Amino acid sequence: MPRSLATTTVLARLCRSTYGRVFAACMLTLVAMVSYDSLPQKVMPLEPLVNADPYIYADDRNEVDWLDYDALQWECLVQEQHSTAFCGFHFELRNHGQIGMDLSRYTHLHVDLDYQGPAHRLRFYFRNHEPGFSTPGNIETAKFLQANIPVSFMEEKLILAVEEFHVAEWWIDEYDVPRALSGVDLRNVVAVGIDLSYPGGEGRHELQLNNIELVGPWIRRDRWYAGLMLFWMLGLAVLGSVKFWQLRRSVATERQRLDHLKREAEQLQSEKAKFRELSQHDELTGLLNRQGLGEAVQEAFDQESGRPLSLLIADIDHFKPVNDTLGHDVGDQVLKQLASLLARHVRQADCVARWGGEEFVILLPGTQMMDAYTLAEKLRTLVSEQSFDAMPGQRVTLSMGVGEREQGESYIELFRRVDKALYRAKDQGRNCTVLADTPESR
Ligand code: GH3
Ligand code: MG
Ligand code: MG
Repeated sequence: MPRSLATTTVLARLCRSTYGRVFAACMLTLVAMVSYDSLPQKVMPLEPLVNADPYIYADDRNEVDWLDYDALQWECLVQEQHSTAFCGFHFELRNHGQIGMDLSRYTHLHVDLDYQGPAHRLRFYFRNHEPGFSTPGNIETAKFLQANIPVSFMEEKLILAVEEFHVAEWWIDEYDVPRALSGVDLRNVVAVGIDLSYPGGEGRHELQLNNIELVGPWIRRDRWYAGLMLFWMLGLAVLGSVKFWQLRRSVATERQRLDHLKREAEQLQSEKAKFRELSQHDELTGLLNRQGLGEAVQEAFDQESGRPLSLLIADIDHFKPVNDTLGHDVGDQVLKQLASLLARHVRQADCVARWGGEEFVILLPGTQMMDAYTLAEKLRTLVSEQSFDAMPGQRVTLSMGVGEREQGESYIELFRRVDKALYRAKDQGRNCTVLADTPESR
């Protein structure tokens, strides 16, 4: 990649980042501060013939005459040099009915003047109206600001700094001017003039004013710096607001994302609970299935170490013929009704489960064997007397085994003993309850 292209790419990347922009703004500010003095200047030509009728004057012992009015060329004939000899030229500034013009923004006066004569110096002056002190209409009462310049400087275009002007002492003396008003002020200039400085020098003085103009910065230095400061304040405020807004937006997005995740987690949790529930229950009857019973057994065996615990296994007698003759659906309906009957007639703490097929297991925590036997007989009688909706007029009977957990006996051992009792109930002709043998007689 050519070097200039690489530099451009780096600069473009820099400008895209916030730090890059701030850096660029710093550089621009630095350039703006340094380049103040090179900014173009505002020029205001002072046109004596346009602003007012130019006026020439001299004391009554001397003469002044226009040589060429339109070319602003005049002569002073000083016959006799005396202490108050004067001869000069001035013009007033018109400002749309206002008294004086505000020239305070200008820093320099440029004058193109041709002079021939015996004077060593010429005097340039402004007349500034002082509100509340000067009398409107009486130019003599306007503050006299002067600069005495050697004529040798007029061979070229003369550049006068405003700082070179000072308030004439004779004016301060004559009008007894308070200190507050005795400083240079160009806010209300009513006239601009050029005359011979005292002593004027005896002889003929010929002057021609070719051009006179005021020059100053378009924008004052303090305002330029204040503008830069304002730019920074506004820039930083905008940058801060944008960052704040972006932060708020990303916080809101993050919050939305978190809410969404939370909702999804809740949904997963509830689905997990649902699946767990489904995995522990039998679909047809709604009773606990083997897995569900396993957990209940675990819980009961953990807690009931000292307490009695009995187990009951029930199996429907001759259920296969029901399916075979009346159909599988009738069999299902019978299973459902039977399950509901069993569930309704046990205690809250007892667990009824469908072990598989037409076989049911009931876990009876806190129940001794004889109480379990009584419950078994009660259930058996209830079932045998129950009329089943799916097969009206036909009876269903149960064979049951019942046993109580012996000290230190595991669930599997207890289950085997009770299952054997169930087999014996089948052998004994069904529709009966058989107690499990004690472990010693196994
Ligand atoms: P026994 O008195 O010896 O227990 O005879 P039985 O016919 O009940 O026993 P067997 O083990 O021969 O048959 C069990 C029958 O239970 C077989 C099957 O048709 C039925 N069965 C098992 N599960 C379901 C089920 O979910 N729905 C229906 N409708 N029938 C089932
Ligand atoms: Mg059976
Ligand atoms: Mg069976």
